[in-house]
Amino acid sequence: MTPTTTLSSSELMQLEDRYGAHNYHPLPVVLSKGRGVFVWDAEGKRYYDFLSAYSAVNQGHCHPRIVNALVEQARELTLTSRAFYNDKLGPYEKYLTEYFGFDKVLPMNTGAEGVETAIKIARKWGYEKKGIPNGAAKIIVCGQNFHGRTTTIISFSSDPDAKGNFGPYTPGFQAVPYNDLTALKAALDNEPDKIAAFLVEPIQGEAGVFVPDEGFMAAAAELCRERNILFIADEIQTGIGRTGALLRVCGDCNCQSHCEQQATYTRPDILILGKAISGGVYPVAAVLANDEVMEVIKPGQHGSTFGGNPLGCAVAMEALEVIRDEKLTQNARALGKRFRERMQNLVEQYPELLNLVRGKGLLNAVVINDSPESKTAWNICVSLAEHGLLAKPTHGNIIRFAPPLVMTEEQLEECCDIIATVMGKFAK
Ligand code: PLP
Repeated sequence: MTPTTTLSSSELMQLEDRYGAHNYHPLPVVLSKGRGVFVWDAEGKRYYDFLSAYSAVNQGHCHPRIVNALVEQARELTLTSRAFYNDKLGPYEKYLTEYFGFDKVLPMNTGAEGVETAIKIARKWGYEKKGIPNGAAKIIVCGQNFHGRTTTIISFSSDPDAKGNFGPYTPGFQAVPYNDLTALKAALDNEPDKIAAFLVEPIQGEAGVFVPDEGFMAAAAELCRERNILFIADEIQTGIGRTGALLRVCGDCNCQSHCEQQATYTRPDILILGKAISGGVYPVAAVLANDEVMEVIKPGQHGSTFGGNPLGCAVAMEALEVIRDEKLTQNARALGKRFRERMQNLVEQYPELLNLVRGKGLLNAVVINDSPESKTAWNICVSLAEHGLLAKPTHGNIIRFAPPLVMTEEQLEECCDIIATVMGKFAK
């Protein structure tokens, strides 16, 4: 018997409170099971999951094909380290690079590690290929970014919670406002010979699902290309079908793999993937680039004990096959359109409560007409949970809605009905 099987949700929450660091503020729901779009709490109550573990569970909870890949591989070999070759890494690297259309991949585990990897590659490329004077490399980032929680990454965060009292900070980063081409151009034109890269989220998820103007990514990539500056896309949250395109840098094109519409494809020099690359079954992250960039990394210069382990490789290959076979990108696009229509109706019905809805595919947010310090969005989420739907506020007054991409049309309509009922209660 596991030690938790007889404990109630309230007892389990007390355990976390007593023995765990208080680095999160979870909704008061204790989950013990998940299948597809559903999760169940310790008492057996069923919920629609509208967070998908921050867009990691695009393929749905415990997808049988992905779990099977995990179990089968776990019986054979789980970890070798990179001191030796393993029989899954090569096939995985071939599969992944062909899937996304790059020469090479550097395998890691978590998103933040992927971002750190991209930063290291970009700096090294800056010194060794571009000729930036030693120690002077700069990376341009965006205001309100979220790229993870390591010391270097929080050094260029504008969120006081993420950054406060964790200094001294890593130098070499300069922030420009998101979605502001003029500001970006000015920053890139200020000593461009010292700028190694521009790092950007194609939609800012954590900041509250900020969607840039049509064409911003393409224009930003072009500005970088003209100045020999690497364009790094952090698609950890937006990638793998979530926004109705395989990659969000692709814009709204309908590609299923490496883009078929080359003309509209904004190709990053470095692509960072995480989260849904494994369907939420195992931590896997990947940094993709072409040879000219990736070749700056030599043995001993970067790595991770678990990065490229056979378990992660087997899981990620199956998780990406599921995205293709079940046409989850197309489903996200179609359902997302319907979701925003339904939410827009609510915004028009309850303008005193709801400001707006925005997003792409199944990465959407509804902005509550209240201050970020107010409890309204939190209370709405608590009420949604009581009605069987789990979502979480971000930055106080924004509710992100991001269900698994395996949702059906009927389920989506039912979920919109639940949201409408709860919003109706709060609008009174
Ligand atoms: N980059 C983006 C855009 C993210 O949304 C996240 C996580 O939410 C990360 C990086 C960090 O990923 P991880 O939590 O796996 O370190």
